[in-house]
Amino acid sequence: MINSQLINTAFFTNKHDDWDPDEGPFLINNKKYKIITMDQTHSEIITTVNSFKNKYKSDGLYTEKNGKILCVKTADCIPILISTKKGIAVIHAGWRGLSKGILKSFFDCYEYSAVDTKVTIGPHARTCCYEVTKEMSEVFPAYVYKKNTAYYLDMSLFVRDYLNKVNIKFEDTGVCTICDEDYHSYRRDGTNKRQYSFICL
Ligand SMILES: [Zn+2]
Repeated sequence: MINSQLINTAFFTNKHDDWDPDEGPFLINNKKYKIITMDQTHSEIITTVNSFKNKYKSDGLYTEKNGKILCVKTADCIPILISTKKGIAVIHAGWRGLSKGILKSFFDCYEYSAVDTKVTIGPHARTCCYEVTKEMSEVFPAYVYKKNTAYYLDMSLFVRDYLNKVNIKFEDTGVCTICDEDYHSYRRDGTNKRQYSFICL
């Protein structure tokens, strides 16, 4: 499990953690938390959570309600955890979600102040390993590297550039799910298993 250095209520599991978000409620620091997960579809939809419901058909969740854990499940997509002055959010960002504008869905539509907002970026497929087709490389021409005849996509840089543009403080765990065998990777193993990234309020 990786604890965020920037947000003390944000965590990323790896494949050795036996943490199951479908169980619970969870006791963290003697406080009982209910867990909220998503039915993720690579969309740009972010849902505001006011009451407990599991699951939301969404690729992002935001809440200002105490006692909630928001959870995102990923293998090679990017888990993004956000803490603002008033609330918390999770985002499931793969190349499809990023190309549809899921970052804008949060940063253009939700109220936050850059000074009080922190973001942590979890383990995902990185440019060292994330080979893409020529067609896919054309979706993000500025974020693709060509090695010999192969194209590699740098989704991490796309997210970091976006966060720099909106002036948000962030950290990145630096882990690549494809080359680090401690993590589930759909690309490497074709697995249906996922990491869980979660943030509590
Ligand atoms: Zn790698």
